[in-house]
Amino acid sequence: MRLRRVFADLHIHIGRTKSGLPVKISAARNLTFHEIVREAAHRKGMDMIGIIDAHSPPVQEEIARGLEEGIYREDPEGGILYNGTTAILGAEIEVKEEGMGPAHLLAYFPTFASIRRFTDWLRRHMKNVRLSTQRLRRPVRELQERVAEEGGLLIPAHVFTPFKSVYGSATDRMSRLLDMDGIVAVELGLSADATMADHLYELSRVSFVTNSDAHSLGKIGREYNELLLHRPSFRELELALRRLEGRRIAANYGLNPKLGKYYRTRCIGCGAILSPKKEEPFSCPHCGDRRVVKGVSDRIAEIADGPSKSPRHRAPYLYQVPLDFIPGLGPKTLDRLLARFGTEMNVLHRVPIEEVAAVAGEAIARSIRLARERRLEIEEGGGGIYGRVRAGQSDR
Ligand SMILES: [Zn+2]
Ligand SMILES: [Zn+2]
Repeated sequence: MRLRRVFADLHIHIGRTKSGLPVKISAARNLTFHEIVREAAHRKGMDMIGIIDAHSPPVQEEIARGLEEGIYREDPEGGILYNGTTAILGAEIEVKEEGMGPAHLLAYFPTFASIRRFTDWLRRHMKNVRLSTQRLRRPVRELQERVAEEGGLLIPAHVFTPFKSVYGSATDRMSRLLDMDGIVAVELGLSADATMADHLYELSRVSFVTNSDAHSLGKIGREYNELLLHRPSFRELELALRRLEGRRIAANYGLNPKLGKYYRTRCIGCGAILSPKKEEPFSCPHCGDRRVVKGVSDRIAEIADGPSKSPRHRAPYLYQVPLDFIPGLGPKTLDRLLARFGTEMNVLHRVPIEEVAAVAGEAIARSIRLARERRLEIEEGGGGIYGRVRAGQSDR
């Protein structure tokens, strides 16, 4: 059987319903189900997208209408088809066990019927099932069972970020929170890469996924996975994550973790980048503020089992610098680039640099070339502030 490369970003939020009801309050208003599948298909060049918040009942009504009208079609192997892009239906759920902080988990479902049954269960155990990422008032093991019963997949979200993730706020060991037999993949988050995550040996069996966690259309595809599949469907995605029948993750495309907004530890009071020691509580040596956000790099150093050991199955992790990180590249230039070269993936990875220069100018083309060569200088992010590409870099 011939396998093909499929680009997949599996974590995109819905801002509003078509009728204007909020779903993810912090996400853009134009981030509706239909606008997401359109943007993914036409501008981003994503073959597969995971639409989180598809558990929300009014979103499900929109999907049902689209299916009735023939705008979408359900794939017999799982997923919703639109113009060559396959949408995988999912939800993000906050869990909290006694004695641990909260953590976010992603659940994906094979069919429209299965996520609707999941919603019927969810609505009995959370305050407002319409909204994104609500706290579940049931034990996490019960959630794992429910997702498995529907043939779904549970993937811990952005596992190292402070505040709301398995390692960032819940526990030092994922196996204390989750039944690891049910976990086939974890999402690395924007401030970590595969080498960093492979300091934790309990992850050696699981696959790593890299997703955008987009809260606006422009951010779709800032991280994504290159999968080797027969065709883009839920069943094939599951095979790839489990590394069965030749299906697999061929590469993870992610931000250089230094661009992520939680890479370094930073003081919220004065903005200083800090290097904390293990002992807590920790206050800022410059201003005394206790509001210090521990960076992913320091958190991993704290809970590491030893040196980074990547298993043989681990896919290569390739850095990419999304176009909206390139200094001087505004919305007008972006539109011109997309009009000329089709998708952001083409501009970032494929189009010859001279052609980029002809459309966007020498300075922008040089930044994109340095990004491809992994020579772009970066100011590290932390404490909720993204890292930055230094402007005006020369070739030396
Ligand atoms: Zn999210
Ligand atoms: Zn400070």
